[in-house]
Amino acid sequence: MQILTTASQMHAYAKRVRSSGRTIGFVPTMGALHEGHATLVKAAKNRCDVVVVSVFVNPTQFNQTDDLEKYPRTFEADRSMLIDIGANAMFFPSVDEVYPKDVRTNFNMDGLDQTMEGPNRPGHFNGVVQVVMRLFDLTQPTVAFFGEKDFQQLTIIKYMTNKLGYPVSIVGCPTVRENDGLAMSSRNVRLTPNERRIAPVIYETLTSIKTQIATLGPAESRKNAINKLIDIPELKLEYLELVDPVTLETSNEDSESIQACIAVWVGDVRLIDNMRVK
Ligand code: AMP
Repeated sequence: MQILTTASQMHAYAKRVRSSGRTIGFVPTMGALHEGHATLVKAAKNRCDVVVVSVFVNPTQFNQTDDLEKYPRTFEADRSMLIDIGANAMFFPSVDEVYPKDVRTNFNMDGLDQTMEGPNRPGHFNGVVQVVMRLFDLTQPTVAFFGEKDFQQLTIIKYMTNKLGYPVSIVGCPTVRENDGLAMSSRNVRLTPNERRIAPVIYETLTSIKTQIATLGPAESRKNAINKLIDIPELKLEYLELVDPVTLETSNEDSESIQACIAVWVGDVRLIDNMRVK
């Protein structure tokens, strides 16, 4: 596996691959890789000739310095995992390589960033869009793979790619969970043993909505779920929304498809999850 650390190395590598007629499958990550990331890399391997994985903790998508500083960085483990899975290249750039100038994007997400993660993490999606545009330019992907775990992010990336006409197919991969249902996340390592024991309640909450929604409807099943969560002292619910999976608008009785999306603080770790409940 090649390790590329500069923008020009990455660009030259991608150009070489593409001009030889081969496809590139691209998996952007922030490292601290786990089985969730591994499924994206495997999906990329199945579909494309060459797989490029970026490992870059993108400062512009963090709205809290504390979260950025505490984000786990595990280069050696990431590298050996990617070698084991058979990725062809790991792009591991510095901040200066990704952002040579302090340029901000001003992409209009047409309201997709005005709900859920958006208001709770000001500037987050601008940072996500900014880094994905830059990484697409450098890695020249044929197909890019994202997790459904970050559902709103996936929706916005699909929207952006389509609106700007990037010649990249976006593939969403199902959320990979621990045995007790907790969605895998690089942030899980920061949970204390007690918080880790409690955290699967997030998944149980989503499952309970899915079970209740046919009989009780979205409003009532959402209310029941919220009532269950607010009784747990270690948790602080940030939002629990039932939305249309494409427009992210709030669902109602008549909605054909409904995605339940949740953000919860477990101690000082913020976790998100989601599930198709209808
Ligand atoms: P991150 O390193 O957390 O920025 O995630 C990189 C990519 O992996 C994103 O597309 C995430 O949605 C995806 N991802 C993270 N956790 C999971 C998971 N548990 N299951 C599937 N995909 C995931």
